[in-house]
Amino acid sequence: MSNFNTQLVHGKSCNENKTGSVNPPIYNSTTYVYPSVNSKVRWDYARSGNPTREFLENQIANLENGDRGFAFSSGMAAIHAALSIFSPGDHLIIGDQIYGGTFRLFNQFFKRWHLEFTTVDTRNISAVAAAIKPNTKGIYFEPFTNPLLQVTSVRDIAEIAHKNNLLVIVDNTFLTPYLQQPLTLGADIVIHSATKYLGGHSDVIAGIVVTKNKELSERIYFSQNAIGSVLSPSDSNLIRRGIQTLSVRLDRQLLNTQKIVNFLEKRNEIKKINYPGIKGTPGYKIASSECSGFGAVLSFEVQNIDVINFVNNMNLFQLAVSLGAVESLVELPSKMSHAELSSTEQLKCGISPNLVRLAIGIEDAVDLIADLEQALEHAKI
Ligand SMILES: *Cc1c(COP(=O)(O)O)cnc(C)c1O
Repeated sequence: MSNFNTQLVHGKSCNENKTGSVNPPIYNSTTYVYPSVNSKVRWDYARSGNPTREFLENQIANLENGDRGFAFSSGMAAIHAALSIFSPGDHLIIGDQIYGGTFRLFNQFFKRWHLEFTTVDTRNISAVAAAIKPNTKGIYFEPFTNPLLQVTSVRDIAEIAHKNNLLVIVDNTFLTPYLQQPLTLGADIVIHSATKYLGGHSDVIAGIVVTKNKELSERIYFSQNAIGSVLSPSDSNLIRRGIQTLSVRLDRQLLNTQKIVNFLEKRNEIKKINYPGIKGTPGYKIASSECSGFGAVLSFEVQNIDVINFVNNMNLFQLAVSLGAVESLVELPSKMSHAELSSTEQLKCGISPNLVRLAIGIEDAVDLIADLEQALEHAKI
């Protein structure tokens, strides 16, 4: 089999392309002809299967070393489909710093369907073990959390989960298969908000589920087809195209992030940097052994400057939520991505009003650093 970057560019042909075009075609047809009534047809109706979507699904399954991939109309739709394989009365252990939209889906939607959840700091394996109950069926977490970049070991979680017959579900949005392959580390299901790094250009909302084995694939396929929140052929093509440049984008993003961390470390306005690539920080060891890079999102706390003034005066960094695209973004978690939490809840999970999150793009690092520098000067108090 070819290597990772070759797989990114070429994907896995599903033999639908008879024209010689170097890109797989976008099939918009919703329905397909039966040669005769009793014919067994490969394609019949596009919710159930579509060649453009399937190209992407095969491509991502391959990159994650999974059995099958499934593409959805958003990351949230992917998470909904993955959780819908459980039944009323089932209990799940979930990370205490998972994406806010995921937390809302679990607490305000799935609880009504009688799934039970226990929130745990998944870095603490004995706390995870202590939360296992007779009806526990799975553990759901993000290996790198947002916005504090806390690192959980997929290997350690998989070990305790499998001793107890639990499924391990990992939201790998922040790392992508280029930097971490959770199925290889022992996870059973991987989820992506493809809106972020896989798409890579802030122009499509999409989600992905990848499964480890046939049995899980059948259950996820049932949900995808029955619930029906599939990704459109055109958007499937955009994600496919984004994936082709995943590693070249991330290589630049990782380099830029390292340069920005080096700059921030020297500034006395920066009190604390949350980035697992910094030696000696809590997540460094696990991240070094389970990932081939530390990602391109970081956060930091500022001191002796007006934080609102600081983010409002960035020019190149655009003030916006989301991450993973070619352009660099800045946001204030306490007022933007995590504004849904009360200030007490924010402080409890470590989000101070002075915390700033950066999502690093592929611009020139010198320009990004110059922007940070002028905004810091501007915000002096
Ligand atoms: C953005 C995000 C989601 C939700 O994905 P959408 O594509 O916005 O529905 C889920 N998990 C993580 C970690 C995310 O960053």
